[in-house]
Amino acid sequence: MSRQKGTGGGLFSLSNRLKGDLIRKTREKKRESEKKETKPRHIERKQKAIPEAFTRFDRFPGYEEMLVPQTVSRKMGIANPFFRIHDGVANSTTEIGGKQYINYASYNYLGLSGDQRVNQASIEAIEHYGTSVSAARLGAGERPIQHEFEQRLAELYGVEDSLVFVSGHATNVTTIGYLFGEKDLVIHDSLIHNSVLQGAQLAGAHRRSFPHNDWQALDTILTEIRPQFERALIVIEGLYSMDGDFPELPQFVEIKRRHKAFLMVDEAHSLGVIGKTGRGIAEHFGMPGTDVDIWMGTLSKTLAGCGGYIAGNSALVEHLRYRAPGFLYSVGIPAPICAASNKALQIMLAEPDRVETLLQRGQQFLELAKDKGINTGTSAGFAVIPVIVGSSLKAVKISNALFKRGLNVQPIIYPGVEEKAARLRFFICKDHTEEQIAHTIDVLTDVL
Ligand code: PMP
Repeated sequence: MSRQKGTGGGLFSLSNRLKGDLIRKTREKKRESEKKETKPRHIERKQKAIPEAFTRFDRFPGYEEMLVPQTVSRKMGIANPFFRIHDGVANSTTEIGGKQYINYASYNYLGLSGDQRVNQASIEAIEHYGTSVSAARLGAGERPIQHEFEQRLAELYGVEDSLVFVSGHATNVTTIGYLFGEKDLVIHDSLIHNSVLQGAQLAGAHRRSFPHNDWQALDTILTEIRPQFERALIVIEGLYSMDGDFPELPQFVEIKRRHKAFLMVDEAHSLGVIGKTGRGIAEHFGMPGTDVDIWMGTLSKTLAGCGGYIAGNSALVEHLRYRAPGFLYSVGIPAPICAASNKALQIMLAEPDRVETLLQRGQQFLELAKDKGINTGTSAGFAVIPVIVGSSLKAVKISNALFKRGLNVQPIIYPGVEEKAARLRFFICKDHTEEQIAHTIDVLTDVL
């Protein structure tokens, strides 16, 4: 002690001062970092004000409404007719829960999904190329089968080129979304498929619809508004998937020419179904494929695969090949699917009897239904035949009653269609027999 006092008084006070400085600095640093960490009050208030609903999937708008049919069917003891599990190939018949049903819920129109030759082409492609082509064609490269198929599709329409995409829905979205923009107009039939609406939305284009199949109304609207826009796209379907009727193609071609618009035809349901050899709506009207600017179709129906295509002139196809995001940044069509659809297309062209039989079965169904006073709307009897029952609940109940009697047919309910237009939708396949159809109409009449 004495030594400290006596010899080091100055040193002692120096060390105390240093200590004090150190403590002060440490405290200041702490205060500063605390200051940084504490959020200003107004930010905290705003964060607290974010409703919990914005952080939960079960509070998204429409979620509860979406569950209503399930809740209603549970409460009323009605079986849910959606997402049924099929075992085996779904064609004119199908197996569900170990039982055989006559099937009207798949669009295997020409019976080519499950065809031995189609399977074999797919198996050979798997053995040669594997099950995936890994990545987008621009970078990961192409396979000859992709070119062969696209060549065949272009020939089918008598146009310069075609391009295959991995999804039918995405084909419409990316094609319309990429080609058109804010200064353009997309005008479509009121019953057009959702993928066209999504494409127009993505494009940011002005969107208008015209009453179903009403080309005179389209003409009137275009006369009024066409000059307000740069490009205009008219979109129709070759066969309407909800109503089974088709457009007067020559009128639409004349209108698109007069109004300097592009015409796009979605042939998802018309390929293999309409036209003497199944070449679609242009064949039905005896028109050249070049009369339409953009042909679109899907691989999931007649072509026994999965994907979509665009066919038209080479400038159109080059645009999409090099720029459409849904092609450029998405994987190429896998060889086994491409080979299956390629084979299905060859068979469709080589065996026109299939198309003929499909037409006969469709006509038989339509005529028998009409004889019984069943409301089939505007269906032309080409593979798609609605039975309109006028209420969603009724449609579900009838579908279930038919299911109990061995018929698998989907109800189409609100919001898929207007409530008063709720229906059962029958997809006819070439493999349905005359007996199956006659039996179906008998059971249907009974249940209705
Ligand atoms: N267009 C139309 C008219 C359709 O009915 C569908 C669906 N079946 C699509 C496009 C989308 O095709 P995919 O189901 O093959 O994606």
